Amino acid sequence: MNPEFEMVVGLEVHTQLLTRSKLFCRCENRFGAPPNTLVCPVCLGHPGVLPVLNEEAVRLGIRLGLALGCTVHTRSVFDRKHYFYPDLPKGYQISQFTHPLLTGGSLSVRSGEGVREIRLHRIHMEEDAGKNLHAGIRDASHVDLNRAGVPLLEIVSEPDIRTPEEAVDYLKKLRQILRAIGISDGNMEEGSFRCDANVSLRRKGTSAFGTKVEIKNMNSFRFVQKALLHECDRQSALLARGERVVSETRLFDSSTGKTLSMRSKEEALDYRYFPEPDLPPLVLDPNWIAEERANLPELPQERVFKLSEELGIREEDAEALLLEEDLSRYFEEAREVVVRYAKEGGWPVELGTGRLVNFILSEVLREWNRKGARILSGELCPEEIAYLVAQVVEERISLNQAKEVYAMAVESLRSPKSVIKEHNLSQESGEEKLGEWIREVLAENPAEVQSYREGKERVFGFLVGQVMKKSGGKANPQKANLLLKDYLSR
Ligand code: ADP
Ligand code: MG
Ligand code: ZN
Repeated sequence: MNPEFEMVVGLEVHTQLLTRSKLFCRCENRFGAPPNTLVCPVCLGHPGVLPVLNEEAVRLGIRLGLALGCTVHTRSVFDRKHYFYPDLPKGYQISQFTHPLLTGGSLSVRSGEGVREIRLHRIHMEEDAGKNLHAGIRDASHVDLNRAGVPLLEIVSEPDIRTPEEAVDYLKKLRQILRAIGISDGNMEEGSFRCDANVSLRRKGTSAFGTKVEIKNMNSFRFVQKALLHECDRQSALLARGERVVSETRLFDSSTGKTLSMRSKEEALDYRYFPEPDLPPLVLDPNWIAEERANLPELPQERVFKLSEELGIREEDAEALLLEEDLSRYFEEAREVVVRYAKEGGWPVELGTGRLVNFILSEVLREWNRKGARILSGELCPEEIAYLVAQVVEERISLNQAKEVYAMAVESLRSPKSVIKEHNLSQESGEEKLGEWIREVLAENPAEVQSYREGKERVFGFLVGQVMKKSGGKANPQKANLLLKDYLSR
């Protein structure tokens, strides 16, 4: 990234809603059914049929608006958005244009310097299109209309995002909220959570926005990050050469990590929006909105505050523990087991949970990023990580040993317990054994002992090293340190 420039990003997210039926007909809303089995004359766009709005989809829209602090408009309007594509049998999509259901609101993201508010521009309801199928078909494309008419919310941010990291955090936080309030499964691979990114650059210190490019086709968080980085490099190279950025839509190619031009904005479509004549304006009873507000479950941010208070940990750590569902479940389960170990071992629970939090945020999070969810179950299940943490608290192994054990366990997908057994790892904290090693070391290094006693304190490190070596790395370093000092002062 060229340091002369600042990145400006606005995101458009489409999320499918977890309703039982589609937005304007009674067809089932479900992923993965055989092609064209969940269709009817309404979602196939046959002439003469009428759409009927699904109230449940509206309810989910209201919930999202309340969770994000948006204005929920008691009157919104559906519009027809026209374009031609084989997956759009009606020739138009029913959407909301001039009067969306929701406007305003915001989402806070974590960035290098702390927390930043990303304002939301608008959130509107619309129907999904079908899907063109190309894989395994020669000389033709097939169309699957199961998805046609599935309810969507399009969530449009203001151009307030400044780094790829913020963009990814925004998406993760948004998805976490969607899941917490039960309106979407947020599955990126299955397309129920899709993101387009608008990206421009401007010289640092200036306020006017540059020409933006819209990037499509990023179906994982990693791809979003990559696409933004690549786009930023591409645009800054253009600008640094004195050339201009062309306003266009670009596709992310995951095989090369680059973005490719798809169409310029001159070729941009004129959607010829007009109000949907077959649907009346959507008018909401304020009592309904109040009821939804009262029924809203605990939001992720509230859980973060609670956890950080409860464990006395930093908010950002609590946030990191709760952000990803599988990790947060893993943490909660491991925590219960640690509590059990604490009771059995008679040590303070906080000692264990503190260690557990640190271990998950450093070791587990890193491996999870590398290897995914498979390191959270089986031989590495919550019980196992709790066992490892208890071993450290009870000083049977050192923290460094625990980290090594964990790394080995992840590499070979074996349990920490069996790794400890195999490598015969256990830390020696007993004074008797430590004293034995220390006495030997002192006897073997009379010159060093002499010079230490004459005031050369640097020799101490050498002597500790000798004790560690003699113990084969098993001596508890803190204990060995203390005891060695004790011996030397005798
Ligand atoms: P369009 O009409 O091209 O769809 P909009 O004004 O509707 O553009 O904005 C779409 C998205 O692009 C929004 O998320 C908005 O925040 C973002 N956006 C607008 N201008 C810029 C810009 N100069 N740089 C980056 N993002 C932008
Ligand atoms: Mg757009
Ligand atoms: Zn239908």
